[in-house]
Amino acid sequence: MAKQKAGRLEKKRRAAAHPDRPGERCAAPAATYAPAIDHARCEGKRDCIDVCPNDVFEVRRIDEADYDALGRMARLKVRAHGMLSAYTPNADDCRACGLCVVACPEQAIVLTRLR
Ligand code: SF4
Ligand code: SF4
Repeated sequence: MAKQKAGRLEKKRRAAAHPDRPGERCAAPAATYAPAIDHARCEGKRDCIDVCPNDVFEVRRIDEADYDALGRMARLKVRAHGMLSAYTPNADDCRACGLCVVACPEQAIVLTRLR
């Protein structure tokens, strides 16, 4: 447990220091930005959950419609990773810290300005 916590802290520390970290360093008002997940890239490994300070993400079984929209190779990849993918049920809580974007090992997250 302590080891897991230390691992999460190290991921956050690395992401915070990343030179390509996008966003507004947690200074954006709620619902100004939202992360978008590329389900063809996501491998469900939860780094986004580990680093997000606002509990924006969950990893769960990919929706049927999202799976059906993937190409053949992406479907194979998703199956190889247990049909898991990231979703953003709490996207409204995003404050654009940018940590998830640089922490994702698959470059599956884009932070988009909404307004
Ligand atoms: S979006 Fe990236 S960090 Fe999050 S579960 Fe998918 S691959 Fe992992
Ligand atoms: S930028 Fe990513 S990590 Fe930061 S609050 Fe938004 S969803 Fe969470």
